[in-house]
Amino acid sequence: MNAPSVEQSIVPQERLIRTELPGPESRRLMTRKNSAVAAGVGTTMSVFAARAAGGIVVDVDGNRFIDLGSGIAVTTVGNSAPRVVEAVQEQVAAFTHTCFMVTPYEGYVAVAEALNRLTPGDHDKRTALFNSGAEAVENAVKIARTHTGRQAVVVFDHAYHGRTNLTLAMTAKNMPYKHGFGPFAGEVYRAPLSYPYRDGGTDGATSARQTIDVIEKQVGAANLACVVIEPIQGEGGFIEPATGFLPALAAWCRDNGVVFVADEVQTGFARTGDLFACDREGVVPDLIVTAKGIAGGLPLSAVTGRADVMDSAHVGGLGGTYGGNPLACAAALAAIDTIEAEGLVARAREIEELLLRRLRQIEARDARIGDIRGRGAMIAVELVKAGTDEPEPELAKAVAVAAHRQGVIVLTCGTYGNVLRFLPPLAISDDLLHDAFDVLAATLEVIR
Ligand SMILES: *Cc1c(COP(=O)(O)O)cnc(C)c1O
Repeated sequence: MNAPSVEQSIVPQERLIRTELPGPESRRLMTRKNSAVAAGVGTTMSVFAARAAGGIVVDVDGNRFIDLGSGIAVTTVGNSAPRVVEAVQEQVAAFTHTCFMVTPYEGYVAVAEALNRLTPGDHDKRTALFNSGAEAVENAVKIARTHTGRQAVVVFDHAYHGRTNLTLAMTAKNMPYKHGFGPFAGEVYRAPLSYPYRDGGTDGATSARQTIDVIEKQVGAANLACVVIEPIQGEGGFIEPATGFLPALAAWCRDNGVVFVADEVQTGFARTGDLFACDREGVVPDLIVTAKGIAGGLPLSAVTGRADVMDSAHVGGLGGTYGGNPLACAAALAAIDTIEAEGLVARAREIEELLLRRLRQIEARDARIGDIRGRGAMIAVELVKAGTDEPEPELAKAVAVAAHRQGVIVLTCGTYGNVLRFLPPLAISDDLLHDAFDVLAATLEVIR
């Protein structure tokens, strides 16, 4: 790894629990939070952040946590990454906002050029910028509908696409995302997904045929504007479709004039050991949606795709007050520079190797590890009752809570809540990863 930056030297890259958890400052803040912030906004951790860099988050009581979450796959280049800090400081002093639709600025155009260059496929592309992943997914659907003149949208079992009304219709899981918040947008249809651990290991081509059959029989290609799919699912449990599933689905879309949309909000920007997850099988989506890892922690999202598809929306049809905010654009350009300059795609593959090695050692002693999957720095374990494939959400929760108490930030996910997911920043050191997995291994030994 590189020499530690200034940010990392003021945030020692070592786990440390120096108070009871949550500490007194965090407890005071949580009391204020509970009387000021809507109850619907929950928190995974009971400690409040004060600083973060490299692979460490420091709380307001001076406890240091190993970050295996990256704020949900956002701080891929590291928290307050030096290039991002410098670029944002320069931009914030120059101007903070003009609205790109009023007085445009270069940063937006430069981010569009970078995305057109980096996303899969070497065809002519265009990009539009937004604020959140959900907003970009919505815009991809708008674009696909104007391009095709069709309305239907196909999404998949276990999918997660966001929390706005249209994206809630596209998201699969009821609790906590959808419960009580309907009615949801119409013309959204759900198809089965290749899920090797739970579909008997059906091969990708066969799974794709079954899925396409459902789409043809229940929706009809002539009504279908787009298929929206996460190449590796995020919240749904890091489900990685069998090899061949995505290419077959993309080919069917191409043959039927259906816009193939890859939601790479969680998988994008080196996270999976490729710049984009679609790159692994050479899948070229018509539209690709990005957010999370795009801007080192600043809110930014994008839709990038075939020029003829992107340009089918009329002038003024796409936009938003803050879309492509200049600070977020400066951060995105710096994050992209960081990925390229520090070889973070290769670093994600190293992290994959380390995590898989550690998890296989645990699996050899523990029959509750049902499945280990994912790619790059996006790895998960699905926990089950030993000797069965019955989900064990209580175990996942207990392990996560115990890890938090020992200074390791771990997230859970999955339709059944039984998946532990690991999304470390790519700036984390091997030492911190080993320390975190020592904690996890010991925790699984204790919770029997
Ligand atoms: C997080 C996520 C979204 C939603 O992004 P927000 O920025 O939270 O709106 C959409 N799709 C995927 C795959 C995600 O992981």
